[in-house]
Amino acid sequence: MSLLKVEDVFKLFPVRPDIFGRAKKFVHAVDGVSFSVEEGEIFGVIGESGCGKTTLARLIVGLIDYDRGSIKIKGEEVSEVKRLDVERFRRTVQMVPQDPVMAFNPRKTIKHFLTRPLLLHGGLGREEAVSRAHQLLEEVSLTPADFFLDRYPHELSVGQRQRVLIARALSLNPDLLVADEPVSYLDVSVRGQIINLLKEVHKKRRITVLLISHDLSVVYHLCSRIAVMYLGKVVEILDARDLFSKSLHPYTQALVSSFSVGFGISRGERIVLKGEVPSPIEPPSGCRFHPRCSFATDVCRKLEPKPLFSDGRLVACHLYDRL
Ligand code: SF4
Repeated sequence: MSLLKVEDVFKLFPVRPDIFGRAKKFVHAVDGVSFSVEEGEIFGVIGESGCGKTTLARLIVGLIDYDRGSIKIKGEEVSEVKRLDVERFRRTVQMVPQDPVMAFNPRKTIKHFLTRPLLLHGGLGREEAVSRAHQLLEEVSLTPADFFLDRYPHELSVGQRQRVLIARALSLNPDLLVADEPVSYLDVSVRGQIINLLKEVHKKRRITVLLISHDLSVVYHLCSRIAVMYLGKVVEILDARDLFSKSLHPYTQALVSSFSVGFGISRGERIVLKGEVPSPIEPPSGCRFHPRCSFATDVCRKLEPKPLFSDGRLVACHLYDRL
């Protein structure tokens, strides 16, 4: 059963408004994105910086509103639940933010950071909230918990702060966890520990996770399925096991070939992408990838490829008229 359903979602950001505040141009951050995530699944979203991954994450957790389309969690429209019952919404979806430094108020202790959502949205009293914070720290292996509860963020390493962020995201027992580049700020040695922690948390709680990353090894090892985004659009959805050997879309193949594989996965011949990433303000006509694609034809320049679906797999490319 789908826990998260994203259907034809658009988010445009206005740029350069005129003197009357009217915008003539827009950044097409998320442009008609659709996918669904099954209950208990870890679903990855990958793509280069600026492809719209983080905007997508922010739309799903309700930090910003979508312009068009539908995002449903457990069958309920995010924009509606957020408007009608913000406390219930906070208990439905939580986010692990990217930056384990900026996410904290340096003047507040870890106890304050962890108990705040429990007091505000969890309906707990102070004593219960502290006891729950204690359990959460133990769950993310920050022990002894009493020691960490009274620490300030600067007294913790970046890896420990990331664990606290995961603990806080879990504090309200959400149905969906959105992890936005959860290891991108960490040293390689700590990355593995945080990936293992996410694996453990997922296994223990059977929580549904949407994992945003530009690191193919992270999504390959954690996710069951992966969506590949390019310039605001999903161009391919595939089984994670197929990422390195059976991807179909030329952009996915280029991403895979440029990735330095450290896990014994053969990557074949390196594909070098031509040119720069086009501007999301004036995206190319037809297939957005056509200025950089070695297979591009006239059709690609004129006509946007329709996504083809088969057995949970999707590809949007004129090279494929059936899967
Ligand atoms: Fe390349 Fe054309 Fe496929 Fe786009 S539709 S990825 S330009 S072959």
